[in-house]
Amino acid sequence: MRTHGDSEKHRSVLMAVYYDSNVQNRIWIRKSSTNNNPITNYASSNKLCGAPCGTPKTGIDQKLLYAYNSQSTIRMCDMTKRIDNEISNRKNYPHDSRTTTYEYQAEFTIADVLSGFKRCAGWNQKKEQRSPLLCLSLFSLVNAHLTKKSLKDRLSGFSRKLQAISRSQNCRISFSGETATMKFVGLLALLLVSAVALAEEEEVEEAPECDLEACKLPNCRCSGVDIPGGLSPRDTPQFVTVTFDDGVNVNNIITYRNILYNRFNSNGCPAGVTFFVSHEYTNYVLINELYNRGFEIALHSISHQIPQTYWRDATYDDLKKEIADQKVQMSHFANIPSNSIKGVRLPFLQMAGDNSFQVMADYGLEYDCTWPTTTQTNPGLWPYTLDYKSNQDCVVPPCPTSSIPGVWVKPMVAWSDLQGVACSMVDACFFIPDRENEEEWFKFIMTNFERHYLGNRAPFGFYVHEAFISAYPAVQRAFVRFMDVVNNLPDAFMVNAHEVIDWVKNPVPIDVYKKQGCRRFTPTNCNIASCSPPPAAHNGVQYWMQLCNVCPRVYPWLGNPLGQMRVTILVSVLFLGLVSAELPLAKECNEELCKLPNCRCSSTDIPGGLLPRDTPQFITLTFDDGVNIRNIETYRDILYNRTGANGCPIGTTFYVSHEYTDYALVNELYNQGFEIALHSISHRTPTDFWASASYKDIKEEIIDQKDLIAHFANIPRESIRGVRLPFLQLAGNTSYQVMADHGLEYDSSWPTSALLNPGLWPYTLDYASIQDCPIHPCPSASIPKPWVQPMLSFRDEFGFPCAMADSCFYTPQFDDVDAWYKFFMRNFERQYLGNRAPFGFYIHEWYLVAYPGVKAAYIKFLDTVTSLNDVFLVNHGEVLDWVKNPVPLNEYMKKPCKTWTRTGCDPNPCLCVAEHNQNMYYFSMCTKCPRVYPWVGNPLGL
Ligand SMILES: [Zn+2]
Ligand SMILES: [Zn+2]
Repeated sequence: MRTHGDSEKHRSVLMAVYYDSNVQNRIWIRKSSTNNNPITNYASSNKLCGAPCGTPKTGIDQKLLYAYNSQSTIRMCDMTKRIDNEISNRKNYPHDSRTTTYEYQAEFTIADVLSGFKRCAGWNQKKEQRSPLLCLSLFSLVNAHLTKKSLKDRLSGFSRKLQAISRSQNCRISFSGETATMKFVGLLALLLVSAVALAEEEEVEEAPECDLEACKLPNCRCSGVDIPGGLSPRDTPQFVTVTFDDGVNVNNIITYRNILYNRFNSNGCPAGVTFFVSHEYTNYVLINELYNRGFEIALHSISHQIPQTYWRDATYDDLKKEIADQKVQMSHFANIPSNSIKGVRLPFLQMAGDNSFQVMADYGLEYDCTWPTTTQTNPGLWPYTLDYKSNQDCVVPPCPTSSIPGVWVKPMVAWSDLQGVACSMVDACFFIPDRENEEEWFKFIMTNFERHYLGNRAPFGFYVHEAFISAYPAVQRAFVRFMDVVNNLPDAFMVNAHEVIDWVKNPVPIDVYKKQGCRRFTPTNCNIASCSPPPAAHNGVQYWMQLCNVCPRVYPWLGNPLGQMRVTILVSVLFLGLVSAELPLAKECNEELCKLPNCRCSSTDIPGGLLPRDTPQFITLTFDDGVNIRNIETYRDILYNRTGANGCPIGTTFYVSHEYTDYALVNELYNQGFEIALHSISHRTPTDFWASASYKDIKEEIIDQKDLIAHFANIPRESIRGVRLPFLQLAGNTSYQVMADHGLEYDSSWPTSALLNPGLWPYTLDYASIQDCPIHPCPSASIPKPWVQPMLSFRDEFGFPCAMADSCFYTPQFDDVDAWYKFFMRNFERQYLGNRAPFGFYIHEWYLVAYPGVKAAYIKFLDTVTSLNDVFLVNHGEVLDWVKNPVPLNEYMKKPCKTWTRTGCDPNPCLCVAEHNQNMYYFSMCTKCPRVYPWVGNPLGL
């Protein structure tokens, strides 16, 4: 989730967190976009967010716990209360079969939701104990996001806080081993009340003045110029920290090798240097080399992006992605121990108040070396902790003001240039000696050094960029002479920056220090990988990378520091243990063995090795759920009698669920040449039912439905080829196994948000799939026969993926036909101008009815694409027919239009009682009426 800019001005986005009491361990984050007041639009948002279909009798027992509005969070908090009232007044939602449950498992991160909650509930670091919402937000995140593997890592920063909360809130959260389990103890209603109450108060608590009695080494030090341990200057080692910033690569490693390697202090220990490394253009093999030379690797952000205001305004989440994620990234690609990475310097020395320090505290980073001081240079400021208020001058605001225990500030004590003007980095000084004059530069450096060496011996920093010293050889020679001097002084030590912190924590006089021995580190190896340039999603640039690990799939960047295919996982996998253990895992696809027409490796290659321009662009329109008199008019209106550029009638695939379906109308759709496919008999909630469905469940819901529809709608059984599971909730291997055993040809339930451009083509499951798994569990076994027709996601206005066109979050305004049309076209063109993977336009009918502007745009889109002679709107099954036997566009264009066996229907109106809920159902069918309303286990209503 991004910070909402101007584009959000005219529109409210309602994000709601629901507790679903049907499912013990699940909270849904749901959302809707509305044109005006979220309250007055609650009915429509409800359609988007609430009211599951299929449970009219039992009603739903969902509770809106929290709503978050992107426009005005505080106002929204007030609204939350009102919405909640509204919900409790409507215990049973009026049932409407056109209403679809929308469970939006969003692309939100921990920090996203946390910051949302923080903003609304006045949560801040000091008041966390009073904020039960933290539990909730974490809980919803766990549901929505975390992979099993990373769960512990991601939450470790919060675990301490959680313990405190759990004690104070009866919110029991426990962590055990690789999995996390969280339990809420019936407090949910109460939580809402307290959340609203908390919204009233918002204030930042400033750190108190330092208490010398309470603040003691090794873990606390007041900011000050006094020498740690009360030592006299002459007993105090003069530390010199040389640092280089930014990317490390073949351009600058030469300088480092030339002037830094094989350098020793007077005590015989190797001299230290600290590299504040930014990710872009960094060669991780060289990082590994520097590390193995004993130098310190520290963090300088992943993006190092401009403008500087980005850093000034950076949120906790921004900095988490830039810094905490970079620690993981650095350790991964350079193959260096994570715990050797301790320091941070923010780009442009631009702090964002408390935020970066809070991230550091939460993610185990020890010290920051970003904060310059220009007033406390003589005597110089020593490193200190942020437990208490800092007395350091704030040169580049905002500086931290809160108490953030656990983080050290290593102040950048400024130099004075020739006119006495302060400069934090050597290459930032203004009045400097002639850059060709080595002697003057040597004097300039020594003058600054002596302020420390002859003063209170506060650590002396030589902070510079490689470009400066390689550009000016005289400066470089002066610098080398300076290092030579330091390395020969008996009481000065050129060390890694974190060694200074180590000494400050445990200050000892020089003679003791010299006996302590040299720093140790664990050498690591590097299995060098030179990667074919992975493309970067953020700018399209391909980056050449060398690293000590496997090559990333995409260029690592913010939000995806390891460059993985994007994977989100539902925590239900953890709770339910759904990962299949019975079937053997599918093997990597073998192109030699896997051949069309019955086998295809998952890939973005165009079938038949065709070029995009020789490939027909297929479009598959689909509509889900019941077909009945309330939605047939829309279908008649926009789909009937519409032909493509080739003169053939367009196709559309209806994924029909049984309840409230009128089978005479299904017959009518079939006889228009549309495809009828399966979407289950019950379409029941909760989605956990589908995630953990057994073989028998799927057989009864899907295979039996094939018989049901063929019978009552009087259509050929063999015309029913495809399946879309409710809520796009796969059940791992199960549904595919059932399909394989019962002759269903393809599934269209599996979204991809990673393989869009180029797009993923349909494939079989004979071998392992490369497809990302946005909604777990996905199949893992080798299951020959059934095809996957991947659902290529749309991307919303901010680039977030959405599997269905009506599940996008950041949409155009609903009444803006043109903007919607462009939105549709943009998504279409990703395929059409790309590798021509089939473009799926997946939408629910009610969305078009609810938003006439969207409907108008949809029609306009159809008008456009049906005029393109290389574009074909076909039934979903027809795409497979082509993929199995791919022919070039010119050949395909010559094919006659599809034919199908027309069938008759003499509609019988029927009134049936359902045995499962005692409801009366009125509908018509092409056979005589069944005895009871057909349902799971009795699909023919016998
Ligand atoms: Zn930099
Ligand atoms: Zn559905």
